[in-house]
Amino acid sequence: MNDLTYTQLRTVVNDAMRSCLRSLDVGETRQARLIAATAVDLCRDGLNGGGTNLSSEERSKTLIRGILAAACRDLSDCDDMIGQTLLEDSQVESLWNRLLGCLERLEYVRDRLQGMAVDQLIERVGRLRERFDQRFGAGLYANPEFVIRRELCSICQDDFRRCIHRDGTVYDGVLCKRIPRDASVRSVSFLKQPIDLRCRVWPWRWDQQSRQYSFVPVLDSFRLDDLSDPGPS
Ligand SMILES: [Zn+2]
Repeated sequence: MNDLTYTQLRTVVNDAMRSCLRSLDVGETRQARLIAATAVDLCRDGLNGGGTNLSSEERSKTLIRGILAAACRDLSDCDDMIGQTLLEDSQVESLWNRLLGCLERLEYVRDRLQGMAVDQLIERVGRLRERFDQRFGAGLYANPEFVIRRELCSICQDDFRRCIHRDGTVYDGVLCKRIPRDASVRSVSFLKQPIDLRCRVWPWRWDQQSRQYSFVPVLDSFRLDDLSDPGPS
């Protein structure tokens, strides 16, 4: 696996994406997951250690392909989960977050990879989202207001305002992100039309006794470039 050239890697991952889509089309979600997870592993291996043959640009494209494959893997899980009659509360929360993660990944990849069926996948996430809404309603969301004193660049660790890197661009296989430092929450309000859909508060988190939510998600731990496998559910 370590000797794959970039062209081979690209072909294998593209073929895997097509097979994954075909499996999803016929309802074979577990098969789709297996194919997509293998593609993620290939990209990750290409980036870690096995990627000595890859140029800087090829490493960057490999990360973007990995992000697409991870979206397909999580989409297969969501498709599988939403078809289940009984879901525990924690599974509903996980399903919601993973749907949002899929969408974020696919939207990121859409303008960066040509010839891939990303729009088709985005529509598929949209359909799952409709099924989710029918089952669990529109929801209520926390809207935290943050004070962030400074932001560092994930590539050079310098102050983001004075470095040359651009947020969302991949440099030599590493995604550039702003890392907030000295951040604090100033206030939290509750909205039906939130800025961040991940900040959803769930009815089962309401504590009758204290008359408040036992858990309000204000910090987002999702990482676009995290290719590790969260497991099927
Ligand atoms: Zn920088």
